[in-house]
Amino acid sequence: MNHRAAQTFVALLLLAFPLSAQSTKPDRQVAVTIDDLPSGMADRQPAADITAMTAKLLGTLRDQKVPVVGFVNEKKLYKPGEVDERIKALQMWLDYGFELGNHTFSHMSLNQAGLKPWEDDVIQGESVLNLLLAPRKMKLRYFRHPYLDVGRDLQTRREAEAFLTQRGYRIAPITLDGWDWMFAGVYEDAKNRNDTDLQQKLVKEYLAHHDAVFAYEEQLSVKVVGYEPRQILLLHASRIEADHIGELLDLLRKRGYRFITLADALDDEAYSLPNTFVGEEGNGWIEQWAITQGKIPQGAPQFPQWVIDRSNQLHLPNGQVSTY
Ligand SMILES: [Zn+2]
Repeated sequence: MNHRAAQTFVALLLLAFPLSAQSTKPDRQVAVTIDDLPSGMADRQPAADITAMTAKLLGTLRDQKVPVVGFVNEKKLYKPGEVDERIKALQMWLDYGFELGNHTFSHMSLNQAGLKPWEDDVIQGESVLNLLLAPRKMKLRYFRHPYLDVGRDLQTRREAEAFLTQRGYRIAPITLDGWDWMFAGVYEDAKNRNDTDLQQKLVKEYLAHHDAVFAYEEQLSVKVVGYEPRQILLLHASRIEADHIGELLDLLRKRGYRFITLADALDDEAYSLPNTFVGEEGNGWIEQWAITQGKIPQGAPQFPQWVIDRSNQLHLPNGQVSTY
């Protein structure tokens, strides 16, 4: 091959395999966490539905080798006549090789309840978990704050953190949150009414909104942390996740993500950044670090109003679906 031919050959190679596709595809990492076990709608679902939902959700996650920590509200186990089956649904998480953490007994907000009642609720949330973990030589090691409420004032926040540390917990922060629980309630209702058009519309919106949230948090990460840390995604145990989490995982892969354990994510030094956030409303950790630095995060994607409107029309008992 002469010089000119070699140049042409290299030019053709570059056309066929653009450098951008080879060298600048981001290497992103995310740990998946799923809250409100055994089910975000446990008060309205029969145990058989919870079992079927759990099997479907965990099947996909196991097939795709996605490590997950699930966070439990033990109060949701105590429905007369169904306690056994509900505990078995929880046990499936461990049988499938996943880890369980504490999300308080009754999904109690630290901000609403105050420190002492909340501490009692944390302790009460350990009983069944300890019974399930002991024969597997596993220990409870992660805690997730309900509603992401970490305290209204810094003294409460620090005392709660000290309490959790002393009981052997590591707090599980979150950085990616597309409010899947809001989609989940409307989806559950659509599914019960066999409204397939609405289900499809919801799933499309659920994927689009999550994609927008991921893009937003990625750029906010760089502004606040200086790079994209290993992210932690918040999802909820629900039928929309059981039916469609595979599409969400595909969407993450398309953005360059690979799936890591929560332990690996927490090794990122971002999780030891100064954090003095307190507030009435819970918040993700990138927002908490931003506010700590005196930056006000702006431009977050709007949650689709029509889904909120549908959710409000459901007249759910005690508004129990709206959990973080
Ligand atoms: Zn929750």
